[in-house]
Amino acid sequence: MKLEVEAKQHERAVRVMMSANVFRAPHQFGLEEKPMPRAGEGEAVVRVRLTTICGTDVHIVRGEYPVSPGLILGHECVGTIHELGVGVHGYSLGQRVLVGAITPCGQCEACLSGDRSQCGGPSGGWRLGNTIDGVQAEFVRIPFAQANLAPIPDDLSDEQVLLLSDIASTGFAAAERGKVRLGDTVAIFAQGPIGLCATLGARLMGASQIMAIDPDPVRLTIARHFGATATLLPGEDTAAKIRELTDGRGVDVAIEALGTQETFEQALRVLRPGGTLSSVGVYSGHLHVPLDAIGARLLDQTVVATLCPGGKERMSRLMRLVSTHRIDLTPLFTHGFPLEKISEAYELFSSHKDGVLKVAIRV
Ligand SMILES: [Zn+2]
Ligand SMILES: [Zn+2]
Repeated sequence: MKLEVEAKQHERAVRVMMSANVFRAPHQFGLEEKPMPRAGEGEAVVRVRLTTICGTDVHIVRGEYPVSPGLILGHECVGTIHELGVGVHGYSLGQRVLVGAITPCGQCEACLSGDRSQCGGPSGGWRLGNTIDGVQAEFVRIPFAQANLAPIPDDLSDEQVLLLSDIASTGFAAAERGKVRLGDTVAIFAQGPIGLCATLGARLMGASQIMAIDPDPVRLTIARHFGATATLLPGEDTAAKIRELTDGRGVDVAIEALGTQETFEQALRVLRPGGTLSSVGVYSGHLHVPLDAIGARLLDQTVVATLCPGGKERMSRLMRLVSTHRIDLTPLFTHGFPLEKISEAYELFSSHKDGVLKVAIRV
């Protein structure tokens, strides 16, 4: 043990460069040698074991969401603690941890009001791979480590917990923030990774009818596995079909998990008076609210938008759902790549080909 610790200390002292996936300019990114991060006060350096690519990363590399050139991409990772800064207590070197995509400080007004994703300013809790270097690298510096490193139980694999750092947490939050009640009817528009996790979330929250809408039959099959009681292909008659399935009432909660005008509008059109539209898709351009779809605003409906919740308490709580076999997210990993082939992984993930849902990237 002593030798192991000495060896690790030695590595920390001599290692100066690492491999990382760096954004250079729109459509230009790839592996580069970058300086090793060091842990400042309250920070930790994590040696990344497993990471993945998010739809948001694809927006970034296409230049649709601006980040600084030279930034290391990625915001979902499992790793081991490589270095602990001053003031980070209760952890040990080599310990395996899950880091959330959102890394709140846990101290500011937003955090202490419970809005941890909005830490320090609008969507300010999303730092990794956005405003600071991200996790698609051999090592990553985690700010506010005390609030953001969630120890992983030994009996859980990296693959079993990784998706809790972002898409699963976001998908579940769509159902939680939509306030799905026991017996509610829920329609979920789009069954990409987040939509599928929203389907699973609706089941966990106790929904009765769960209607999943997506053009991809493979995704609809997984949707059934995750709890959908009906699956529908999107079309002009989608709203009419959902009304029929709910005896003309409309759904209690409609979840929008794609971020387009069409799906937002359909979600509104299937919502019962007094129902909640829970939105987790990321919109670009203009979003219009047609007056007829909201009954000229006289329908007492609620629209709630949700960014991924942050912090270690959320990560630990969601890991207990895996430990107790209430959820299994591993079917979402359709492909695996080593870090060296991350460009290929981006190509496949953004092509939507070969039934790809999520790619596991081993570091
Ligand atoms: Zn993401
Ligand atoms: Zn904060």
